[in-house]
Amino acid sequence: MSEGPDVSAIVAGVEKRLFVDGKWVDATDGRTFDVVNPATGAPLCAVADASPADGRAALDAAAAAQRSFAATTPAERADMLMAAFALLHERIDELALLMTLEMGKPVAEARGEIAYAAEFFRHFAGEATRIDGGYQRAPSGSARFLIARQPVGPCLLITPWNFPMAMGTRKIGPAIAAGCTSVIKPAHQTPLSMLALMGILTEAGVPPGAVNCVTAMDAGGVIEPLIRSGLARKLSFTGSTRVGKMLLEQCAEKVLRTSMELGGNAPFIVFGDADLDEAVEGTMAAKMRNMGEACTAANRIYVHESVIDEFGRRLAERMAGLRVGPGVADGVQVGPLIDDAALHKVEALVSDAVGRGARVLTGGTAAGGEGYFYSPTVLTGVPSEARMASEEIFGPVAPLTPFTDEDEVIAAANDTEYGLVAYVFTNDLRRALRVAEALETGMVGLNQGVVSNPAAPFGGVKESGLGREGGAVGIDEFLETKYIGVAM
Ligand code: NAP
Repeated sequence: MSEGPDVSAIVAGVEKRLFVDGKWVDATDGRTFDVVNPATGAPLCAVADASPADGRAALDAAAAAQRSFAATTPAERADMLMAAFALLHERIDELALLMTLEMGKPVAEARGEIAYAAEFFRHFAGEATRIDGGYQRAPSGSARFLIARQPVGPCLLITPWNFPMAMGTRKIGPAIAAGCTSVIKPAHQTPLSMLALMGILTEAGVPPGAVNCVTAMDAGGVIEPLIRSGLARKLSFTGSTRVGKMLLEQCAEKVLRTSMELGGNAPFIVFGDADLDEAVEGTMAAKMRNMGEACTAANRIYVHESVIDEFGRRLAERMAGLRVGPGVADGVQVGPLIDDAALHKVEALVSDAVGRGARVLTGGTAAGGEGYFYSPTVLTGVPSEARMASEEIFGPVAPLTPFTDEDEVIAAANDTEYGLVAYVFTNDLRRALRVAEALETGMVGLNQGVVSNPAAPFGGVKESGLGREGGAVGIDEFLETKYIGVAM
């Protein structure tokens, strides 16, 4: 399948060096690493491979710029964010194509992600001008309390490959709004979107040193010394629970503020009274957004025994009708998985579930071709001992499990160390609220399969994370509260 004529021009147009103190620089030892197109398995280009010294130079630049950046006015920072918002929309076509090339998602979904990413800038432009404070009379009357909000200081921002632009703007937006400088390290699989964003931020008027970007293969080797340096005041991480736990340990040494957006194992519950068409639509959204490579992806789909056969039939029909192929091709709805390891993991999880008695309603195999494609799959009768009931599938596989009553399904849904999001489909309002309250998750979608929204507080409980991104509280993660006591 053709990738279209302008692909090489789009890739050629992106800077591939490190962005430090407002300048593009090579890695000090000149090293680079390849970015691979998951639709073909072939390298797209090479980008700079930062050394620990390069990481330190970026953090030094952020630390040096902190004072002057914090002194910019909220209105100035809001203007920067709105200018970047406008540029993201102006360049949406080329940015979407770039994202598809490095990450695999269909271009239509990549466009959706650029628009979603831009919304974080618009949202936090507003929040920048609403940073609040307080004035209070001491209970004894002998003093006044002034409550001020100040930027926490230089931040380390680490993002995953599955949403290469939005996971970055979700952190950079509030950091800029609060007046924090930062060093961002995107995932090694998808550095190009973040490098393109650095150019946009510069055009938008973000001053040198305020946002820096290092791309690296040895993430731990570059980041750990920065965490331990004492120069950073905060780490905001989105990625796996395994890496998040390691970083929390490292952050303890200097008592860094942390925000952790970690893994998920979302239950999706369909009660017998749900509108089945709506529930199937919701499943398609919660399962197939990003080919299932999302922390919010429906990972365990519990369907009431009275409707599971009909639900399974309708869902399998929808999944079987999806067009799989390179994300740049017209009409493709399901792109490749990110790499070979991801494909093998999905294959192993499906074969484990089938070995334990699950039945394949559609799909169930790799889709073939030169990239990392897996067929949209529906399994039914997936037992709780199957590996996929406790591990993130991160692929286009919908596992259905029957249930009989409400208490049983709540217990099953909560039987996981994760607690990011849950989905509930029912037309009974009382039940919807009862179940939503009983689920141990940071977010619940009621009769909807997508909860992500820049204006809402996104985040998890249990081992899915700490803190919230987006919403009115998203900026709090980047602000300290200072109390000034005034004698009267
Ligand atoms: P990952 O392996 O944890 O990597 C995430 C980021 O951490 C990457 O930039 C990675 O760099 C970096 N990293 C890896 N080891 C590191 C270390 N020792 N020190 C510092 N940084 C390190 O996760 P992933 O496989 O890319 O992403 C998928 C995971 O992210 C899933 O678990 C998913 O649920 C989660 N996620 C959560 C949310 C949320 O909001 N809760 C959103 C999206 C994704 P390299 O690429 O160079 O290894």
